[in-house]
Amino acid sequence: MAVDNPHTEVNGRPTVEARDPEGSGEEEAQDDSANQASASSSKKKKSNKKKKKSSSSSAANDHPTSSIDSSLTMPSGIEQHYFDPVKGKGLLATRDFAEGETVFTDSAFVSAPPMAQAKKVAGGELCNACFQPVDGAGVGRNTGCKGKDCQAVWCNRECESRGRTAHHNVLCKGNNPAIVPFVNFMSTHPFLSLHSVARLYARILLCHSPTPPESLIKPSRPATVEETLGHTSAFASISELVRRKRNPGWEVEKQAFELTFKEALKLLKEGMDPYDEARIARGEQGGIRGKGKWTVNPDFPRDVAQQLFGWEGFMRSLGRANLNMESQGSLYCIHSHLNHSCAPNLSTQHPPSQRGIRQATKLKLMANKPIKAGEELLITYQDPSQSVTRRNLLLWREHIFGPCECPRCEKEMGELDEEERERLKRFEMTSEDKEEVKLRRKQAETLQKEGEKRAAGEKDLRGLEEELRETLGF
Ligand SMILES: [Zn+2]
Ligand SMILES: [Zn+2]
Ligand SMILES: [Zn+2]
Repeated sequence: MAVDNPHTEVNGRPTVEARDPEGSGEEEAQDDSANQASASSSKKKKSNKKKKKSSSSSAANDHPTSSIDSSLTMPSGIEQHYFDPVKGKGLLATRDFAEGETVFTDSAFVSAPPMAQAKKVAGGELCNACFQPVDGAGVGRNTGCKGKDCQAVWCNRECESRGRTAHHNVLCKGNNPAIVPFVNFMSTHPFLSLHSVARLYARILLCHSPTPPESLIKPSRPATVEETLGHTSAFASISELVRRKRNPGWEVEKQAFELTFKEALKLLKEGMDPYDEARIARGEQGGIRGKGKWTVNPDFPRDVAQQLFGWEGFMRSLGRANLNMESQGSLYCIHSHLNHSCAPNLSTQHPPSQRGIRQATKLKLMANKPIKAGEELLITYQDPSQSVTRRNLLLWREHIFGPCECPRCEKEMGELDEEERERLKRFEMTSEDKEEVKLRRKQAETLQKEGEKRAAGEKDLRGLEEELRETLGF
């Protein structure tokens, strides 16, 4: 499988999260013209293919693991294929495709609003399900959530039903008041991966509810917890801590990262864990009660809750989101199988809706050259205009694989001089990285100091902290 990676490499910044806020800023706003949906495969951020069989071996902990999702119905013309334990899974063409032909389309399994749009989604300008502007959806068609303090709106009843059953019934401040601190935390900590994890968790919980989301396997039937966990575990995953270790500057960021994400997990548990102590004390019996009715039925599988809301499970969920999120922030079951090449044969678009607006939650994969039956389908996880050394460094750091063995890399590596080739093998820091480390060290120190002052009861420095966080990227 491909570990997609979320980060378009923009300016050589090492962390993925660093690009959450920025990365989405650089994506065109959804209300931009449809033609922006351009094909650039470079937008994609998928990653690699290393997956080993899910196992608990220690080697597996350092490499992404993934598996074939045999429950999925594949579009005609493509099939899943397991290569080997190192390369893992991928997609093959089962017939010829002409250049320009659509090879398949995919809809988001879990969507999260591009960070540039998150405030507008929360504030009721954009649909909470498809992230398109609601005001063009047609007079009288919009619907809005009536929950207290909730400004969610949808294009129409269909978007509302899809959004509520997939995530909103749990993430609604009105329906689930315990989620308010977490939702507020997300609005001040714009991490795309955190949004993605929250929506995935909500989806899993809602499968055990009176209002489950629709099954991907049998449309119009309710999805089960088991089915949803099956799709989830097929995605390449790795602990976010393992990913981050590869970033220059991690040792200076580590402490602040852990503080921030421990707080996030605490709030997430309080808002969502059916077995959170406070919930059990309120008599919620392993479920989540909203407005007198069950939002998540009692007796949600306890082992699943423990897994999701434990630190390790949470880190793995964040790592999975970061490896697999497409550039606009969603996770796709089929698209996530695609492996990387620096000279890919597919390009990716967000196709326009009937209103002519690019859809952040849909993908169209097109052949950018003639493809023969039996060929592997490939996209690029990194901006292909970068140098071979830069591409390989980022693939190694963000997608946890490499060196890339595509024909283009083979050729370009052959043209490097000895010293450059050696460096490529060792993935040494570039001078740019060293600058970055200095900057981060300084910022982390300031952040740390301010945190200590605040703990000592000094004035609220949240504004400064946020500013720093934004620069720091987490
Ligand atoms: Zn909508
Ligand atoms: Zn609501
Ligand atoms: Zn390559």
